[in-house]
Amino acid sequence: MTSDFETRLRAVSLRVTKPRLAVMAALTDHPHVDTDRVLGLVRSELPTVSHQAVYDVLRALTDTGLVRRIQPAGATARYEMRVRDNHHHVVCRSCGAIADVDCATGNAPCLTASDDHGFVIDEAEVVYWGTCPSCVSTRSEGNQ
Ligand SMILES: [Zn+2]
Ligand SMILES: [Zn+2]
Repeated sequence: MTSDFETRLRAVSLRVTKPRLAVMAALTDHPHVDTDRVLGLVRSELPTVSHQAVYDVLRALTDTGLVRRIQPAGATARYEMRVRDNHHHVVCRSCGAIADVDCATGNAPCLTASDDHGFVIDEAEVVYWGTCPSCVSTRSEGNQ
């Protein structure tokens, strides 16, 4: 039986390996996790996998476009399987929680530059910053 992950790996000429499949499964269930969290998730399935192996897998998957790497300012790099749809992220300033926000217009670049300086612009990197619902409620409890 060929899984969807195997098909995707073969489509970009990557060999199908257990660590690669495990990383893809981990990111499917847990979007926007950092390298350490990915390592923990993969180790629950493959206890002997090394940090370097997971790091290499993440790099190979990111380089081939199977995984998207995002890095909000001041945060560690996070990874996710949702690629090629130009979705954006909303990031909590207090706890760093991240959620997906669909592109406002549906395709990149979703913002028109007021002056493109002659550049051919293909993307606008949009990050929404704010406070997540759980941090908002923690804060209001503290005020009572
Ligand atoms: Zn928060
Ligand atoms: Zn996302």
